[in-house]
Amino acid sequence: SKRIVVKIGTSTLIHQNGKLNLKAIDQLCYTLSGLVNENKQIVLVSSGAIGAGLGLLGLDKRPVAIPEQQAVAAVGQTQLMTVYQQRFAVYGQKIGQVLLTHDVVDYPKSRQNVLNTFENLLKNKIIPIVNENDAVAVDELDHHTRFGDNDQLSAIVAKMIGADLLIMLSDIDGFFDKNPRKYADASLIKRVKQINAATFAQASGHGTKLGTGGMLTKLRAAKLLMAAGGSVILANGANPSIIFKLVAGQELGTLFQ
Ligand code: ADP
Repeated sequence: SKRIVVKIGTSTLIHQNGKLNLKAIDQLCYTLSGLVNENKQIVLVSSGAIGAGLGLLGLDKRPVAIPEQQAVAAVGQTQLMTVYQQRFAVYGQKIGQVLLTHDVVDYPKSRQNVLNTFENLLKNKIIPIVNENDAVAVDELDHHTRFGDNDQLSAIVAKMIGADLLIMLSDIDGFFDKNPRKYADASLIKRVKQINAATFAQASGHGTKLGTGGMLTKLRAAKLLMAAGGSVILANGANPSIIFKLVAGQELGTLFQ
């Protein structure tokens, strides 16, 4: 059976006004449930905890202090999982929350424990919903304790479970030869076979207000998975049912392979 990791970005899950994009979340749940019914094994890496927390607490931007961000993430993670639980239940789909720290990369024992968890969830047709454990992974200066961003996390998870495909959904149609938000004449690159310095030079900036990674972190993640023999598709998540088309082999977005 085919193993697919889906990573969905903050910009797809949260409206500009800070409210959860319930339509997108519902479509995502509908689509992933449908794929499980087709005997695909699905792992969802979901961003949006801080965004959801900001909305719930009535804040309009991330607090500067790390402990305050952690508190916002704790509130938002619960809110996000509550919504996922409700929407997935409508489609008869069970979920399990998996919060990870960089330990899964650093310690073989932790890695094996997490792998066992994934295997048993997938075996039972349960969708693991993964995020970084923000309450534990704090040290922003020592990058060894953090994944840093969910693009990286999704590639690490995909590599760890031997996924056939990582689908990254963002607020953009794919990877362009330059940032389309800055250059009107940017054109979509349909296929990337190798990621090198020239590729990184085509990505710029930090993305949207609530999004964190931007295109650089997506390229880094794609590079990591490609090196492990995996494939990555970057596509627009405005309508998450696009995942059906991507899994069926339609050429939308950018394929890194
Ligand atoms: P997400 O929250 O979905 O992870 P981000 O906002 O972090 O998304 O990253 C996507 C953004 O990256 C795009 O909206 C765009 O502004 C920016 N970007 C920079 N360079 C490029 C490029 N070459 N092609 C596409 N998008 C780019």
